[in-house]
Amino acid sequence: MSDPTTLPAAAHATHTVFNQPPPFEDVNLFTSDRVLTEALRREGAEWAGSQARELGEIVGRRETISLGFEANENPPVLRAFDRNGNRIDEVEFHPAWHALMGLGVEHGLHALPWREPRPGAHVARAALFMLLAEVEAGVGCPLSMTYSAVPALRLQPEVAAEWEPRVTSTVYDPRLVPSPEKAGALCGMAMTEKQGGSDVRANTTAALPVGEGGPGGEYEITGHKWFCSAPMCDAFLVLAQASGGLSCFLLPRFTPDGARNRFHLQRLKDKLGNRSNASSEVEFRAAWARLIGEEGRGVQTILEMVNHTRLDCVIGSAAGMRWGTARAIHHAAHRKAFGKLLIDQPLMRNVLADLALESEAATTAMMRLARAYDGEESSFRRLATAVLKYWTCKRAPVHAAEALECLGGNGYVEEWGMARLYREAPLNSIWEGSGNVQCLDVLRAIQKSPESLRALLAEIRQARGADHRLDLFVNELQAQLERSEDLEARARRLVERLALALQGSLLVRHAPPEVADAFCASRLAGDGGRAFGTLPAGTDFKVILERAFPG
Ligand SMILES: Cc1cc2nc3c(=O)[nH]c(=O)nc-3n(C[C@H](O)[C@H](O)[C@H](O)COP(=O)(O)OP(=O)(O)OC[C@H]3O[C@@H](n4cnc5c(N)ncnc54)[C@H](O)[C@@H]3O)c2cc1C
Repeated sequence: MSDPTTLPAAAHATHTVFNQPPPFEDVNLFTSDRVLTEALRREGAEWAGSQARELGEIVGRRETISLGFEANENPPVLRAFDRNGNRIDEVEFHPAWHALMGLGVEHGLHALPWREPRPGAHVARAALFMLLAEVEAGVGCPLSMTYSAVPALRLQPEVAAEWEPRVTSTVYDPRLVPSPEKAGALCGMAMTEKQGGSDVRANTTAALPVGEGGPGGEYEITGHKWFCSAPMCDAFLVLAQASGGLSCFLLPRFTPDGARNRFHLQRLKDKLGNRSNASSEVEFRAAWARLIGEEGRGVQTILEMVNHTRLDCVIGSAAGMRWGTARAIHHAAHRKAFGKLLIDQPLMRNVLADLALESEAATTAMMRLARAYDGEESSFRRLATAVLKYWTCKRAPVHAAEALECLGGNGYVEEWGMARLYREAPLNSIWEGSGNVQCLDVLRAIQKSPESLRALLAEIRQARGADHRLDLFVNELQAQLERSEDLEARARRLVERLALALQGSLLVRHAPPEVADAFCASRLAGDGGRAFGTLPAGTDFKVILERAFPG
């Protein structure tokens, strides 16, 4: 009998590896995304093309994609105390996290429109934010909160004058030192408490003035926050009850005399996804803070911030859908089953095209929304933000699940990255106002600011006459909006239809006819099923798939 160890390698190899797709990496995520490149131009930020191309190339590199994996495999660790038992309240992050944060800050994802306030600045930033969020979503949280804090800070000009130069700096400085010593600073937000998150008026954290108090004045904050993400930020917008009612404060990690503020990290949350980012429970024990705006106007003040973070939830969800679509198409283009590439199998073509359609609708509407942050479109922005926050974020988890399944068993395995996408996907729908809260906000906007509905419908009607299914859908929607009974119970249906009408109108005007036709047929005329992959017969899969192909 022959000794197996002396056999030639090929003879005792169990098998050759083939029919596994090449890695999806070293792809420029901007130039390979036709929908995004067209939208950047259309929505007024063509000037940012070279920056988007540059970032698209960087984030698509193998090394950058690996950073996302590393940052999630090595989640942040709380260091509440030093070895001598002194409280330090620090969180230690893996170098991969810092590298990704540095990338985001250097490219101005936290500040571009405030640094370069020119037409298209929010659109440009939206595209850049989307590119980084495709390969790693965790860093999006502090980048988004820092970007969003600026409009709220500006309500207190002397505080803004001190903080804005720091939080718009493109230097990433992760040191926990007093912010005057830092080359750049980041901002977080702490609203949610144990007894009430959506219902922030239930906050019990208390604020007492040091001296006279009043706008810009000094206060001491005592209480807890049940969620406070990115706790290594340099300052936080915090809601607390002052004698005049719920108020908004800027609470830095250090007091003006350079001492650590009484900001104590209790625990880090063990989260479903978003694991590279830290989300903490925190207590303030007479922590030093400054009032932003008037006492009692806390909700209105912090909404200046929250509206921008809601935009980022839409961007983040669109990013997840594009990444999932690109990965699914890439896999199907290289994997054979039953003698044919998956991408050539009719049923898989239907699934991929349906995913691509959802992704295109999300990106197109998101970029249109970002333009509303650039100009004088406050009415459109008011309603469209809540409508798209609800719908885009609701679509992301089901989209991620289906994109994952396109990779078969590999999709369920961590090292392919789809599992991470899937775990991340529900988050955008929860934070910054959960689904129901968004829908109730839409009702509130329609009732209190009817001009916001007029602006949204005017945008939708720009496509009037171009597609009879869209016209019919909008007519029915208007009839539903006019019915006043059971509004609250019907809110999800209404908001869903407002979002679909907006997406339909944008696609009819701006997308290739084959894309618009498939969208109107499946999403507006009811000729589609409840799962992805149910586009009607006659859909031009070839055009839709070629357009979405990531290469
Ligand atoms: C990973 C993560 C990070 C977070 N980071 C932060 C942070 O940095 N800072 C911060 O302040 N918060 C943060 N949050 C908290 C988040 O914003 C809240 O969890 C969210 O707003 C919901 O509040 P809640 O958890 O208290 O749920 P609740 O308010 O109790 O809501 C529970 C459910 O009831 C629904 N609901 C609420 N009111 C109504 C109503 N009137 N009618 C019908 N349905 C309703 C909601 O939509 C939700 O589905 C974070 C959350 C997560 C998951």
